[in-house]
Amino acid sequence: MPADALKCKECQTAYPLEARFVCERCFGPLEVSYSLPEGDPAALKRRIQAGPHTIWRYADFLPLQGPARSALPTGWTPLVKADRLAERLGLGELYIKNETANPTHSFKDRVVSVALARALELGFDTLACASTGNLANAVAAHAAAAGLPAYVLIPFDLEEPKILATGAYGAQIVAVRGNYDDVNRLCTEVSGERPNWAFVNINMRPYYAEGSKTLAFETVEQLGWELPDRIVGPIASGSQFTKIARGFQEFIDAGLVSGEVPKMNGAQAEGCSPVAKAFAEGHDVVRPVKPDTIAKSLAIGNPADGPYAIELARRTGGGIDAVTDDEIRAGVRLLAETTGIFTESAGGVTIATLAKLAARGDIGPDERVVAMVTGDGLKTIDVVRGTFEVTEIPASIDAFDSHFAPVAV
Ligand SMILES: *Cc1c(COP(=O)(O)O)cnc(C)c1O
Ligand SMILES: [Zn+2]
Repeated sequence: MPADALKCKECQTAYPLEARFVCERCFGPLEVSYSLPEGDPAALKRRIQAGPHTIWRYADFLPLQGPARSALPTGWTPLVKADRLAERLGLGELYIKNETANPTHSFKDRVVSVALARALELGFDTLACASTGNLANAVAAHAAAAGLPAYVLIPFDLEEPKILATGAYGAQIVAVRGNYDDVNRLCTEVSGERPNWAFVNINMRPYYAEGSKTLAFETVEQLGWELPDRIVGPIASGSQFTKIARGFQEFIDAGLVSGEVPKMNGAQAEGCSPVAKAFAEGHDVVRPVKPDTIAKSLAIGNPADGPYAIELARRTGGGIDAVTDDEIRAGVRLLAETTGIFTESAGGVTIATLAKLAARGDIGPDERVVAMVTGDGLKTIDVVRGTFEVTEIPASIDAFDSHFAPVAV
């Protein structure tokens, strides 16, 4: 399915497949458009199945001109059947898409892989980004693997594990005194005067965004070429959320799977919930907010794809909800205790939202639900600090027995 142009999402003006992200006519966002695949869906399916166990098995649906490969293989993460969690929530068939299994432990490896591959095709020599944490981590790692210098700009108050894990790769880390929206504004300015820098989520944004479709492609394939009924996933800028739905639609259009795009349920933290708020109030306009939440990965107060996320949730019969920081902490613990998967605060947002939907009776007993767990708990380790006790004892069997009395058999 060859990419043939960049198209404005608002006025449909077409542009060549260059490093552009905004429409010159109406300032709308640009996205990659494709011509429908020709030929036999069965042949396309065989080609996918014969591909590598990475996102590149879906090269037919990604915007690269040459053969796709990367030095740091990404994707094909487990889809885990979560029976114990389903039982706790009173749900039927529930799966966790476990994105902690990516090379830098978040879904950002997908979007960076695609942006980097396209940046190399376009001749860029430096990789950069504005990040809420995971993106910096992924940009630094993929640039290191490809042998490119990297500049990552982050809000100064990011969680320390994310900064340390990024510095390890040798990237230039720039901590900006401001929030993500300030960082993003600064990066847009820097990008204007550094023509050889590929900012993965600014001038490369249309290509970057395509990487999220692979979450949908993998989900379909891992369900045995079937569609789920409902997706629950996080919203920061809204890019991932909207592109997951696009991925399902493209597989349907290509004849690889039949049915409808799943109901799309978005999840935000109450401390940064401009999209959930607009959805609840029935607006199309998303009013920017100043973020204040432990879910820093999702702390984008002025989300670029917010209006499209709202339209998608409405159109599919899903919704967008917000959860409190305490609910997020409980969500992290609930997932860990029932599945063995330890997620960062963003995953807590998703699981807490899933729990809320279940409690409200929004999810039918026969539904097949997939929850997107997008990042690793080790990056936001403070979320679980103080939520359990450690028993300290002297090195003696009596001391052990006095705390944990042997159970008579
Ligand atoms: C970036 C990120 C998201 C989603 O971001 P969007 O801007 O909405 O695409 C979700 N979860 C985690 C952990 C992230 O780092
Ligand atoms: Zn336009």
